[in-house]
Amino acid sequence: MFNHLTPERRNQLAALLPAGALITDADALVPYATDETREHYFLPEAVARPHDVDQVAAVLRFCHQHNIPITPRGGGSGVSGGALAVNGGVILCMNHMDRVLDVNHRDMTVTVEVGKITAELQAELRAQGLWLPPDPGSASWCRIGGNLAEAAAGPKSVKYGAFRNWVLNLEIVLPDGTVMWTGADVRKFASGLNLTQLILGSQGTLAVITKAVFRLIAPPREEMLLRAAFPGIAAAGDFVCALFRAGLTPSEVEFLERDAIDIAAKALGETVPPEVAAYVWVGFDGNHRDALLEEAEQADTLAEQQGALETVFADTGPTMTRLWALRKRIGMAVIETTPFRDLDLTFPRGRLADIVTLVKKTGMAYGFASAIFGHAGDGNLHVNVLRNQLDDTAWQHTLKPGIEHIYRETIAMGGAPSGEHGLDNHFKVMNELFFGEKQQKLQLQIKDSFN
Ligand SMILES: Cc1cc2nc3c(=O)[nH]c(=O)nc-3n(C[C@H](O)[C@H](O)[C@H](O)COP(=O)(O)OP(=O)(O)OC[C@H]3O[C@@H](n4cnc5c(N)ncnc54)[C@H](O)[C@@H]3O)c2cc1C
Repeated sequence: MFNHLTPERRNQLAALLPAGALITDADALVPYATDETREHYFLPEAVARPHDVDQVAAVLRFCHQHNIPITPRGGGSGVSGGALAVNGGVILCMNHMDRVLDVNHRDMTVTVEVGKITAELQAELRAQGLWLPPDPGSASWCRIGGNLAEAAAGPKSVKYGAFRNWVLNLEIVLPDGTVMWTGADVRKFASGLNLTQLILGSQGTLAVITKAVFRLIAPPREEMLLRAAFPGIAAAGDFVCALFRAGLTPSEVEFLERDAIDIAAKALGETVPPEVAAYVWVGFDGNHRDALLEEAEQADTLAEQQGALETVFADTGPTMTRLWALRKRIGMAVIETTPFRDLDLTFPRGRLADIVTLVKKTGMAYGFASAIFGHAGDGNLHVNVLRNQLDDTAWQHTLKPGIEHIYRETIAMGGAPSGEHGLDNHFKVMNELFFGEKQQKLQLQIKDSFN
């Protein structure tokens, strides 16, 4: 059992931080009680906002000594509830640690504190002719630490990989306050166990990340985009597979099915022809316009062969922004429409249509609607189970076996419960299904060794 933060302990904790860096006022704690799951609410007892690694270490050491739960938090944009004080205690808000410490143009690396807003880091690097490609849809308010802890990704990951593919080295603080670097600022690493990769995706459960070193590349000079409309999901899924079989190297392959299209279109005040069952966006980037045009033309031909109703092409900033609009709007459009549960299913790319059919059939059987969208090229779809008019009993209980059925079948198809959003405590059953007893035990032993 954990301890509470008594008034005496609160004063001791406050003394470890600069003035004003420990929030305990009830009203001021409220924004930290939720994240983008929106339906979970866990009020912490205090929020600590350290300014440097020594303060992080001091806070962790204190909580460790007094057995007080502590939960790291970045931008609070997570959709798996990881930044919430589920067991009470202290939220460790990393947002004051947001300095870019070093941009190394020769080695093409950046060293940054983890409270940096992702889009701000990307913009600052771009201004210097450097590029960190992973592009989560929440980039304007999520933080680098949250990206690393969730092993986040984005549309560009189909060509460039997720955050975990760009990290060279991490500074971390263990629960007892020990500070260490996990590796070295090198591009290859075969020097024993890879602690860096173990920390990535651990959702704040092993250690607090305080600094990261990323490798960088030069940004591409040219970009273009194709959007294909399909009358059925199977054709859309076949098109996605055909792109790669033809040897194309798209920078994005994104997907929206009809229910998601309707929600995004409503938010944008647009209408979409009724015969469109799915859209697939295919992006291309590189330095040679002619080569990209050739790939886009091939993609266009493949779409036609798969029975596309229409393709639209864009190659300037404003026209591409317009063409992306439905896809870029969907995440927030769902959030603004209804409470939802996010299943971040990942599966062999060829099973896209099977996954969509599974979700829609299960929804019919259990009485829920869904919006499905995401990263078709990576075999990673965000299934938003929508609350709409469902009452509390249906939302809290009746749906649960339906959602478990979706997880079970996805795993049976060779998939996994999360591709980039992390595991949600709400559905512990997926851990049992996916990892099995022995691996769960091993993972707990690893966690214990960090504690
Ligand atoms: C509209 C929308 C679009 C999204 N699009 C994408 C997308 O394209 N791709 C994607 O991958 N995700 C996406 N997400 C999910 C979310 O934005 C990501 O998971 C993001 O990486 C979370 O970052 P954050 O800073 O907000 O983290 P938080 O929500 O604050 O925390 C997330 C987890 O990280 C842990 N954590 C935070 N900081 C640290 C640290 N310094 N050390 C250790 N642990 C830490 C927390 O404890 C928690 O478990 C989207 C969410 C929304 C609402």
